[in-house]
Amino acid sequence: MTQPQGLDSAIGRVSRMDYINNKSINEAQILKIQKKIKGLQHWLGKLGTAAFGKCIRCGEPINHNRLLLVPESAHCIRCASRP
Ligand SMILES: [Zn+2]
Repeated sequence: MTQPQGLDSAIGRVSRMDYINNKSINEAQILKIQKKIKGLQHWLGKLGTAAFGKCIRCGEPINHNRLLLVPESAHCIRCASRP
């Protein structure tokens, strides 16, 4: 659904606009999922080590509730809200 649509395709103008909108939404969703996978792979690599569950910025343990809600997060809430 994110592949380019050729101009010679026999779809109407409204359909083409829908396609462009849907393509943007799908691409954004793919990026979001890829980011989540990358975050989860980070934690898989830390399984069984002292670094598991600790913020990569400050080294403090990440709140369990945060890890349950945003398991891909590598930052504690304090560091995640800092620029
Ligand atoms: Zn932190």
